[in-house]
Amino acid sequence: MVEVKLMANIGGHEPKHHSIPMADDAKIAADEGQLTDERWQAIINNDASYDFQFFYAVKTTCIFCRPSCKSRPPNKQNVRIFQNAQQALAAHFRPCKRCKPTGQRLPDSEWVDQITNFIDSHFSENVTLEILAEMCHGSPYHLHRTFKRVKGMTPGEYVQQLRMNKAKQLLADTDKTITDIAFAVGMSSTPYFVTLFKKMTGTTPTEYRHRHKQASETGRLHYEREN
Ligand SMILES: [Zn+2]
Repeated sequence: MVEVKLMANIGGHEPKHHSIPMADDAKIAADEGQLTDERWQAIINNDASYDFQFFYAVKTTCIFCRPSCKSRPPNKQNVRIFQNAQQALAAHFRPCKRCKPTGQRLPDSEWVDQITNFIDSHFSENVTLEILAEMCHGSPYHLHRTFKRVKGMTPGEYVQQLRMNKAKQLLADTDKTITDIAFAVGMSSTPYFVTLFKKMTGTTPTEYRHRHKQASETGRLHYEREN
């Protein structure tokens, strides 16, 4: 709430857009940063007549859009309203790839950063190409192709890599069962998890844990002897 008030104060010093009728100026000044019913209707109806009168950002995806953006309507409680693209950028939101709220084409590398950030914080959930495309605003085909070109691996391969790294850490540092670890990294099938782990690391999860525990035990003994 403090943030919204702050934004309203900053917004008060911004020059008004010429497209806003004079009579509405007072009302709009009072509503700055507020998700009014009118704005919410504009967002869910993709109403292009509100474009550049305000922008909406979605806290969960860290992306901001024009009201007319064809992306799926966000959860109302996650929406923040900005008067212009600069405010949204200053608050660390990124321009949507689909509706290009800054009026500029988002470089592919920035888009791939958005996708990567999303995967980094959601890899233990069910991350499909369709979910990625929806959350990061692009077609599944285009997203897959762009991601692979920029990162040298597909989004699916990147998800697997993160899952295996997390699994290694859990195998080494915890006593969780293999099934629990598979589940914790977002894989509901233990046999598939074991197969993938072996394919990517060259050892089974159990072997990996055994070797790692042996190594740390040896390290501990050396440490105790020397001290
Ligand atoms: Zn958008």
